[in-house]
Amino acid sequence: MFSLIDSHCHPHFPQLQGRAELLIAEMETNAVAAALAVATTAAEATTVTALAAAHPGKFYAACGVHPLSAESEEDGEDAIAKNCANKNVIAVGETGLDFFRGRETETMQRNRFAAHIAAARKLQKPLIIHTRESLPQTMDMLAAENARDVGGVLHCYTGDAKQMREAQKINFIVSFTGILTFKNSAAMQETLRAAPPDGYMVETDAPYLAPVPHRGKICTPAMVRNVAEAAAQIRNEPLKKIAANTTKTFHRLFHPPD
Ligand SMILES: [Zn+2]
Ligand SMILES: [Zn+2]
Repeated sequence: MFSLIDSHCHPHFPQLQGRAELLIAEMETNAVAAALAVATTAAEATTVTALAAAHPGKFYAACGVHPLSAESEEDGEDAIAKNCANKNVIAVGETGLDFFRGRETETMQRNRFAAHIAAARKLQKPLIIHTRESLPQTMDMLAAENARDVGGVLHCYTGDAKQMREAQKINFIVSFTGILTFKNSAAMQETLRAAPPDGYMVETDAPYLAPVPHRGKICTPAMVRNVAEAAAQIRNEPLKKIAANTTKTFHRLFHPPD
């Protein structure tokens, strides 16, 4: 027997919205005990907090404003802290820097990111970090804003093993998605092999990034099982061990309520 947790998904996005019961049933079939629902806007904070309250122990919530969400979002420290105060909100985020579409909004993104780190420190809750084409800048900000006091996770990690070790030094671990199952993920697989047993988690980022053999479908939290199965193959460890280690790491980092 084994039990998994999806450490990052968006079950409230339009593709999955209103299907909580079905998602939970599918999770149970696949030995997925729980999933962390991550908000990307202030309005979604309400949705994921309600989802977690309605399904205790099945869904947990994380609240933040994504770096690519509208500039008009309420993203000050106080607004973020308020959205994250609920006991079912176990992390602050997702937040970070995303330069995939260029650096036009860099200043806004940096201000927003700093506000999240400040709110996390105030609440003593860990951070969920989104970083795309911006890992060095993200790491610099985490260090400069003393994010190590609360720690957190670099979700959908695509950096290398060296950067992973740098992150560990400031109290940040990594989380791997279904990209692990894609062709051309050799570098990421190598990073996973280098991760210490207590230094990584698995996630879906549903509704995106459906793993093999579900490519092209809408991804659901249950598919974290495919990610974990891939991790087992890559690390040459039994699935049971992957499940136990990633679940333990999730609990250590996020302290979910019972
Ligand atoms: Zn993200
Ligand atoms: Zn996400």
